[in-house]
This record gives sequence, C-alpha cells and structure tokens, in this order.
Amino acid sequence: MNILVLNSGSSSIKYELFDITNHIVLSKGIVEKVGMKGSFLKVEKQNGEVVKLVGEILDHKIGIEYILGMLVSEKHGVLTSINQINAVGHRVVHGGEEFCGSVYINDEVIKTLEKMTELAPLHNPANLKGIYAMNTLLPGVPQVAVFDTAFHQTMPKKSYMYGIPYALYKKYKIRRYGFHGTSHRYVFSRACEMLNINPIDKKIISCHLGNGASVAAIKNGVSVDTSMGFTPVEGLIMGTRTGDLDIGAVNYIMNKEEISGDTISTLVNKFSGMLGITGISSDMREIETAANEGHERAKLGLDMYAYRVKKYIGSYAAAMGGLDVLIFTGGIGENSVSMRKLICEELEFLGISLDDSNNNVRGKETDISKADARVRVLVIPTDEELVIAQDTEEIVKNLN
Ligand code: ADP
Repeated sequence: MNILVLNSGSSSIKYELFDITNHIVLSKGIVEKVGMKGSFLKVEKQNGEVVKLVGEILDHKIGIEYILGMLVSEKHGVLTSINQINAVGHRVVHGGEEFCGSVYINDEVIKTLEKMTELAPLHNPANLKGIYAMNTLLPGVPQVAVFDTAFHQTMPKKSYMYGIPYALYKKYKIRRYGFHGTSHRYVFSRACEMLNINPIDKKIISCHLGNGASVAAIKNGVSVDTSMGFTPVEGLIMGTRTGDLDIGAVNYIMNKEEISGDTISTLVNKFSGMLGITGISSDMREIETAANEGHERAKLGLDMYAYRVKKYIGSYAAAMGGLDVLIFTGGIGENSVSMRKLICEELEFLGISLDDSNNNVRGKETDISKADARVRVLVIPTDEELVIAQDTEEIVKNLN
C-alpha cells in the first residue's frame, strides 16, 4: 500500500511517500516559500540525489500538484500513475478535546476541524488547506488525520487544568493540550521494543528537543503530563520560544513597550528562547560553537536550556512516583552529546547515570546509560511520518 504523508505548514509542505507494506520510503521532499517569491520543490531521491524545481507556487494546491507531478515524473518519479497512491495521511496540529486518536477524514471531521481553527490559528488552517487540496486532486482516495495533541488526551484533569476560573475552561476550552504527541508516542513505543518491556507499570519520560521542544510523562503506557500547554509556547526554553514565563512579566513588557497582544505573541514565539538569550541564533549547533569559543551569553543559554529540561525531568519523576526510562529525541536530543550530558549531570539521585562513551553518539538508537544504572537512558531518532503512515494504513484497512 502506497501512502502519501503530508505536513502542510503556513508556507511549506513536507511530504513522504511510503510503500508501507514493505516499509520503504519511496520519495520525500519539501515545498518551500508557498505564496512567496522564490518558491520551490526540493526532493531527496532514494539514491541521495537532491532535485530542486523552482516555480510559481502560489498556494497549497499548486504545491501539492508539484509534488504529485514529481512523483510520476519520468526522470525523477517513483510511480507510473498517481492512481498508485492508495491513501493520504495528514499531520494536523490541533485535535482539541474532540480527537483522542487518528481519524478517517469525512465531511463531519472537516467541519469539526474548521470550527477548531481558533485553537491553533497558526497551524490548523494550513493543515486544512492540504486536506482541501487532496480532496480536489485525488478525489475518492481516503485521507486520515493524525493529531499532535491526540496522544496527550489521556492526561488526567489535574494535569491539564490551569488555575484560572473554571468558567473559562468551560467557555473556551482553555487547558493544557500538549503537542509533539506523534513523536512522544513513537519514541516511547520504540523504547519498549528496544528494552523488551511492557509499558504497564513503567514510568517513562520522553524529551523531544528540536526547534520546538517538549517533555512528556508516560505512565502505564499513556501520557499523564506534558510541558507544552494551550499553545506550544509553554514549558521548555526553545529555539525562539520563551517556555514558562510569568504572566506578570508579559503584562509589564506590554505596558512598558506599549505593544499589543499580537506583538507580544510574536515576541514570545519568534524572538525569544535561545535566540533571545544568546543574541546569536536559535540553532543549537551555532550556539554550542559560540560557547566553545567563549561567548558568555551562549554559555548562559546552554545552562538555562539544560536546567529547564532537568527541572521537568525531576518534576515528572515526582509526578509519576519514579522513573524507569528517559528518552532523548528531536534534532538536539538525538545529536547533542554535550547537551544530554549537561541535562543528566547530578541526576544520579534519580538513578540516571550516563556512560560517556555510549553517549558519544548521534542520530542512532542507543542505550547511553551505565550498565548498572537504575534508569535506562535512550537516544531514539523520531519518525513522525512513519507513525502517520502506519495510522493511515490501519484506518484505511478497516474501512467498510
Ligand atoms: P524541528 O523541530 O524543526 O523538526 P529538529 O528536530 O530538526 O527541528 O531540531 C533542530 C535543532 O537540532 C537545531 O537547534 C539544531 O541545531 C539541532 N541539532 C541538529 N544537529 C545537531 C548536532 N549535531 N549538535 C547539536 N545540535 C544539533
């Protein structure tokens, strides 16, 4: 079964085409700068060759037409006809309280998603554009939505409620939703396979450290808490997001700088975090290089980043009453040897103890803890697209 996975963002569309029966990625790539000058489709072929097609990609539908065209192109294609695409899986950021798992997309689901765009105005409208485009371009081909929030719908009320008037929760559904659920779900289940353990009775913390970053507490196989909240801005210090921040400081900045709600939202989402602290970059590699060259604010940024992750690990171990497995994933979690070390330092009291030589690894599934440590610490490269393809296969197989 050939499944096309789409991740439609506001100005980009990532895709991956799977032959899911044989677990092969046939083609993957990205359309960038949708609706802007200089838009293009970049494809990574199976042999590693990269093909770039520049064009006037004015909207998502045209972007997807470029992708479909490339998939059947004589020179770079992998299919003889687009009829060979059996199903489409979409990443959808926000599933609200309505969706606690992946779903087959019918008219009713589309209507519910349309109503929910208010909850994720930066993401869901773009995800919907991908769905509308596919309805037109591949009519009759089943489509499935896989939500970033769904995995966290198992959180108990005490974790997801905020200390605000209850009426506001009832009226506007203001609560913690959490994101990166597809990634946390994937690495957690890979961890159980790697260690050959049953998740029941196990306490697992998963740290997804990429440009966006979040920690999830997984007990008895389900998410019981996570650091991102109503929006992805809460929790860890990220590339450009503040993470946890006193609302009093937000009000103070707004008054002093005379800025509006929209501007403060841009400030806390796009100009803060590692970029704001270091003044160098949001990119961890550049920050690590600068710190090694003695840049003081780069060093401060790294310390703050690690300290915040460490605090979440401690608090989730307390919340679950212990810890058995700690997972690192995402670009930083998978690749930064020094950040993992900094985070795990002085956590021996929890049973966390890294083996320096095992920790010297990048982008490869590895147990990096000492053989006799109480907690297994794992590096697991995430694969959200594979999860989307597998969920799509499962749902489509069971249609009718
Ligand atoms: P996204 O959230 O956009 O998917 P990624 O998961 O790819 O992001 O993570 C991007 C981050 O990973 C960047 O900050 C990048 O610097 C960092 N990263 C990638 N490789 C390394 C590395 N070898 N060492 C340190 N950081 C790395």
